[in-house]
Amino acid sequence: MARTPLLMGNWKMYKTVGESRSFAESLAKQSAALGASVEYAVCAPFTTLHVLRVMLPSQVKIGAQNVYPEKEGAFTGEIAPPMLVEFGTQYVLAGHSERRTLFGETDDLIGRKVRAIVDHGMRAVLCVGENLTEKESGQTNAVVAGQVIAGLASLSASQVAESVVAYEPVWAIGSGKTATPEDAQSVASEIRKLISEKYDASAAEKVRILYGGSVKPNNIASFLSQPDIDGALVGGASLDATSFADMAKAV
Ligand code: PGA
Repeated sequence: MARTPLLMGNWKMYKTVGESRSFAESLAKQSAALGASVEYAVCAPFTTLHVLRVMLPSQVKIGAQNVYPEKEGAFTGEIAPPMLVEFGTQYVLAGHSERRTLFGETDDLIGRKVRAIVDHGMRAVLCVGENLTEKESGQTNAVVAGQVIAGLASLSASQVAESVVAYEPVWAIGSGKTATPEDAQSVASEIRKLISEKYDASAAEKVRILYGGSVKPNNIASFLSQPDIDGALVGGASLDATSFADMAKAV
């Protein structure tokens, strides 16, 4: 069973409503670049989800970058899963390295977020990856395995099958440095093997694994051509509609 490729933007804390509107208008003019056999999504700031839902070409789904794992309650400043569902949000990132390092998110909290995302009918994109020290000491696979196991811990095999894992080496995010396509493939293959062992062969076959970290229009194809890499999670290069369209053409 072939997995549908997924090109996903992560806008981080960029773009006002006005800027999002301009992006959507520009991408709409280039919508011929969006193929029918690929899935597209933009994970955007909460304040822009509505305008994007209304204005983006219909092939492009909307995603959020964070959620609090409770249905509602006294959690000042947080956003609950039903609030995202109401906006038509289909994907939610969990465990991005910036959330782990800047906001102290633990594997336990990330696992609860993944559970809440799935419980509310959205798809979780669990982000995992080693930092430079861990890479240089040969711990990449061990670190990634720990994050994958903890992040997916409360899901069933069929829920894992519908989820997405994004392998993003921390040292490659926003740095202009990428993993080599071969190294990214090797980690993606280890993640798939681990999911097969912890869940079952069907979940491993179906789960989509993305590469992220300084993906650009000129290097995306080298990652997508790897057998275990099913798409890309793109930060900086997803902010410009022409760059997004160029990546769509390359997928
Ligand atoms: P980058 O970010 O493409 O700007 O490296 C990727 C990410 O943080 O998801």
